[in-house]
Amino acid sequence: MSIIRILPETLSNKIAAGEVVERPASVVKELLENSLDAGGSQILIEIEKGGRSLIRVSDNGVGMSPDDALLCIERYATSKIYKNDDLFDIRTLGFRGEALPSIASVARFSLVTRHKNLDLGTQIHMVGGKIQQVTEIGAPVGTVVAVRQLFFNTPARRKFLKGIQTEMGHIVDVVTGMALGKSRVHFKLVHNQKLLKNWVAVSDPMDRVIQVLGSDLKSGLIHIQHNDGYLQLDGWISAPAITRKTSRGIHLYINGRSCRDRVIQHAIFDGYAGRLVKGQFPMAVVFIQVPFDQVDVNVHPSKNEVRFGQQKRVHDTVRMTISAALRQVESQRWNRPFPQEAMHFMAEQPVEYQAAAIETAPVEAEGKRQTETPSISKATVSDADSPDSRKTNGMSGVVDGAVRPSDPINGQEPRQAQGRLWEPARFRDLRVIGQYQDVYIVCESGQDLILIDQHAAHERILYEKLGSAVEKQAASQGLLLPETLDLNYREATVLEILLPHLLNLGFEIEPFGGQTFVIKSIPALLDSHDIKTLLIEIIEKKLATPSDESAAKVLDDCIKLMACHDSIRANQRLNDRQIKTMLDQLDACDNPSNCPHGRPTWIRLEQTFFKKAFKRVL
Ligand code: ADP
Ligand code: MG
Repeated sequence: MSIIRILPETLSNKIAAGEVVERPASVVKELLENSLDAGGSQILIEIEKGGRSLIRVSDNGVGMSPDDALLCIERYATSKIYKNDDLFDIRTLGFRGEALPSIASVARFSLVTRHKNLDLGTQIHMVGGKIQQVTEIGAPVGTVVAVRQLFFNTPARRKFLKGIQTEMGHIVDVVTGMALGKSRVHFKLVHNQKLLKNWVAVSDPMDRVIQVLGSDLKSGLIHIQHNDGYLQLDGWISAPAITRKTSRGIHLYINGRSCRDRVIQHAIFDGYAGRLVKGQFPMAVVFIQVPFDQVDVNVHPSKNEVRFGQQKRVHDTVRMTISAALRQVESQRWNRPFPQEAMHFMAEQPVEYQAAAIETAPVEAEGKRQTETPSISKATVSDADSPDSRKTNGMSGVVDGAVRPSDPINGQEPRQAQGRLWEPARFRDLRVIGQYQDVYIVCESGQDLILIDQHAAHERILYEKLGSAVEKQAASQGLLLPETLDLNYREATVLEILLPHLLNLGFEIEPFGGQTFVIKSIPALLDSHDIKTLLIEIIEKKLATPSDESAAKVLDDCIKLMACHDSIRANQRLNDRQIKTMLDQLDACDNPSNCPHGRPTWIRLEQTFFKKAFKRVL
């Protein structure tokens, strides 16, 4: 006697629904994908109670014939792939043929559809996966799918639903993702009969980015583009000054499919290297096109993960395209006078905000890295969780010469002209007022005040000097008295690995038997004091990083540590000549605005800020 049975279809659909239909937003995603695959140019999404009561998606796509309407609710029924080879050449968003039956199995489901070549439409009602009624019906061309009382027959799932706002947040995310990817489609999102989003069709994808992410981002967007025949890349990334607290502002499209791909996300971060501090995320809308047979989209039922045929190549291309774009923009930026890219220090904010911001402005503790967004910027954050909110970290994201609006809180227009009265384009042209707390160099620039973080600035200077010295074969200076270094076993093993990199940097270190090493020479640029501490720091850093880190990254980490080790500390009094030298050297930097760890090296306090604080103006 056999105990194995084939499951009834309603049950297997319900099981599939477990993977495909996690929450209302997953239903919205599947229905939107179908509408887009059907060529809809207008899509209306109506939601009630965060999707618990109703999710209805209407499109003006090709629609379905009565036969297809009945087939589409069967498991593994799809018009998108027919044969084995098609699976490696997927050009549509759907292909698994399981979304509609899965959704229908866990809700009250209705479908009204009319094919573009037919006069009459078809209506199907289902409850918990069972067909209740099929009728002919007059309907416009296209398809309307309504999903009511989601999870009414799977109480465990229903219990896991979050509040209306949270579910709605996920739905908005999904619609946002789809809309960013399809700028020629009109998307309308309605919640409880209230219009939430209305993104009309536009021909330039950049216009969609601005519609969706907000027009005040416009001047902070950097266009990226690359095409090497294998990989085509197009998109926009935010200037490093515009950040978010999560990666939710990063939108990736791989062959048109919205994905959350870790490899690409990592590549984007690498592209920003040295420009963001920990906990800051850039915003990006990136379209990647690779040959269809070079990407596997059949990784997970939710279809938002992919695997690349040549993962490393894709990663490196994205990283290099982004870092090249940022570098180019930074060099243009720095040639402009200060006001255009200087910090807009909450000029339009109420005085209370400004005062609070000053009190909590970041002062770097000696030896302790700042791990958070500088608190200066916190006062500028609006509702960080609302899908449209943005923040700046203080330094404005000006890229193309326009001044960014600086007031996300009350959303006023940017204040334009003030800064243009003065023209110091270089650090050396600043009038040095003095040093504040032996941490910041205080300067006057036209009407505004510039504060330079001396440690961060010097770190940047050394970092670039050391970096270019390595490129030109770093010069060494022999130590009069070679120093010995005694290490433990793990440290010694790591140092052995590091020796060739260190040699590149100008360190001549030789094993001296056991776990002892002799330091014979050090980079010419480095101060000879406390070399041992520096080497131990480098070894510890290497111990703490994954062993498969690239050689370039290892070298870069070493350079960062060397720059930090040798740079002028906070709490160090500087004389006029030292300050002057530092300003000259900053002018020679490629990116004088960030320390190697991504923190700003300088900020600007606008005259307006003081006027408001002293209530000279209201
Ligand atoms: P898949 O999208 O993976 O093919 P679905 O279950 O989502 O699977 O849909 C099954 C089929 O129903 C699709 O292949 C398509 O032919 C048809 N279909 C679904 N939604 C629509 C729509 N909005 N307009 C036209 N046809 C649709
Ligand atoms: Mg589908």
